[in-house]
Amino acid sequence: VRRKSLWTQDRVLTSPHKNINIPNCTLNEFVWENLDKWPERTVAVCAITGRGYTYEQAFYLSNAFAANLRTKFKIVDGDVVSVMLPNIPDYPLVAMGILEAGAVISSINPIYTAHEVHRQLLVSNAKVVVTLPEISNIVKEAFKLAKIDIPIIVIKTNGDPAPEGTVLFNELSEDVHVDTSCLKKVRRSNNDVCFLPYSSGTTGLPKGVELSHRNIVANCIQISEPAIKQHNETTKTHQDVVMAVLPFFHSYGATVTMFHRMVVGGKIVTLAKLQPEQFLQSLEKYKANILHIAPPLGLLMTSHPAASPKIYQYLEVILNGAAPFAGSDANRLLSKIQRKIDFRQGYGLTETSPVVSLPIIGSEHYSSVGNPMPSTEVRIVDSNLKNLGPNETGELLVRGPQVMRGYKNNPEANRETFTEDGWFRTGDMAVVDDNGDITIADRIKELIKVKGFQVPPAELEGVLRDHPSVLDVAVIGVPHPTNGEAPKAFVVLKNGQNADTKDICNFVNERVASYKRLNDIVFLDSIPKSLSGKILRKDLKAKYC
Ligand code: AMP
Repeated sequence: VRRKSLWTQDRVLTSPHKNINIPNCTLNEFVWENLDKWPERTVAVCAITGRGYTYEQAFYLSNAFAANLRTKFKIVDGDVVSVMLPNIPDYPLVAMGILEAGAVISSINPIYTAHEVHRQLLVSNAKVVVTLPEISNIVKEAFKLAKIDIPIIVIKTNGDPAPEGTVLFNELSEDVHVDTSCLKKVRRSNNDVCFLPYSSGTTGLPKGVELSHRNIVANCIQISEPAIKQHNETTKTHQDVVMAVLPFFHSYGATVTMFHRMVVGGKIVTLAKLQPEQFLQSLEKYKANILHIAPPLGLLMTSHPAASPKIYQYLEVILNGAAPFAGSDANRLLSKIQRKIDFRQGYGLTETSPVVSLPIIGSEHYSSVGNPMPSTEVRIVDSNLKNLGPNETGELLVRGPQVMRGYKNNPEANRETFTEDGWFRTGDMAVVDDNGDITIADRIKELIKVKGFQVPPAELEGVLRDHPSVLDVAVIGVPHPTNGEAPKAFVVLKNGQNADTKDICNFVNERVASYKRLNDIVFLDSIPKSLSGKILRKDLKAKYC
C-alpha cells in the first residue's frame, strides 16, 4: 500500500489509495443494503431523552412516511422537501423517507430567521417542509415573505398538540394502512440529485448545492477505505457509537455522521443543541467512541471545567473538519484526554459531499489535512490556473466522484466554479509538502466561517443595504479567538444620517441567525472598489485586520 500521495508528470496530486467502485444505486438503497445484518440495533437515539429507533423501525417508518409523501402530499420524482430540524433521532427517518419517495432533501438550519428561510425555500422550490412545532411559526412567516403556501409536517418531541395547519409526522410514519406499493413507481438514477444543502461557494449569496446519490454514495465508500476509515465493523458484540453534535443540515454532519454511519450500522447519539455539560456527560454516558468536531468544539473539550480523562475514556477517534484546527490545539486536546487516540483533521466542502482529503490512520501531522481521498485528484494552481508543485502555495482544485453536479439553476456560478476541463475551484489556498501531505494555508474566497458555519459577506451586505440610513457597505471576516472568525462591517451612511452602531446591529440581528451577527462596524466615507465595482476586501483586511 502506498502511504504517500504522488504527483503525476503534469503536477496533479493523486490519492495514495486504490480507486473505488461506485455501485449503480441510490443513496437510500445503499443505506438499507445491510439492514438484515443489524435490524435490532439502535440507529439513532436522543442523548437527553433516550428516545430512539432501531434500524428495522427506521426502515418501516420511513417507508410509510415516503408512501404518504407520494399519496397524501402528491410528491413526485425530483420534488424538493425542505427539512428544518435540529439533530433529533427522527432526522434519519425523515431523510430516508424523502429519498424513498423519489424526492430531494433540502436542509435548512433550524435556528434560521424567517428572512433566511424564505430565501432558501424560493431557491429550492420546496413542495413540503418538515420541522418542529416550536419553529413552525418561523416557517409560516417565511411562507408569507416568499408568497407561498405549502404543507408543513411537524415532528412532536413533547406532548403539545400540533400547531394549527400542520400535519403530524408520527401519523404519517406510523400509518399501517398506507399502501407502500406506490413506491415501486419511483424512478431515480444515481446521477439524480438527492441532497440540496446551501453554500455561497467562492462568492455571492447562498446557492443550492446539487449533490447526487452517486456523489454521497461515493463519499461514504471513500471514507471507508481501510487506511483512513473511522469505523469498526458492527458485530454481535460491537456497535460504534457516534456523538452527533455537528448539525445534520450541513453536509459534514449529514454524510459523515448520518448517512455513512447508517451504512456501517453505527449508533447515532443526537444532540439538538450544544449544551457543554450535557455534551460532555453524554460522551461518557453513551460510551461514544467516535466524535466529529469543528474547532470550537475541540477548544471547548480542552478548556471546559467538566472535561476530564474519565469523561473521554471511551473515545477512540476524533475527526476535525469545517474549519482549521491548529496543530498546537490538537496537542492540547490530546493532553487533556491523556491517552493516545486517533485524532485527524479532514478537509472538505459542502460542494464535495464533503470529504476531499484525510490523513492516514496513525498520522501525527495534526495540522495537515492529509491526502486526497480514493479516486480523487488535486491540483495546486497559481492565479493563471498553472499547476504548481510541492511546497508551492496556490489555489486547491479538486476532481473526483464526490464533486457536486453544480449549483441549482445558476449557470453563471457554475461557470465560475468549474474550469473548462471540469476541475472544481475550492477558493482555498493550500500547500503540499515533500511527504505529499496537504495543508490548508488560507481562504481566498470571500466566505467567512464562524464556528465552522458559513457566513457569506454578500448576505450580510444585502441585509445592511436594506437599512434606511445605509448607502454602501462591505463585510469581511476578522480573526476571533474562539469562533475562528467574526464578521466586521464597513458602512457608508447616506447624506445627513448619523452613525448609530446599535441601531444598525439590531437591524441585522433581527434578520440573521445568531452566529452571523456583526462583531464590529466601522464607518467610512467610501468603500474601496476596483474599476469594475468589486469590493476590494483585501485592502480592507490589510488596513483593518
Ligand atoms: P462548508 O462548505 O461549509 O463545509 O465550508 C467549506 C470551507 O470550510 C472550505 O472551503 C474551507 O475554507 C473550510 N474548511 C473546511 N475544512 C477545513 C480544514 N480542515 N482546514 C481549513 N479550512 C477548512
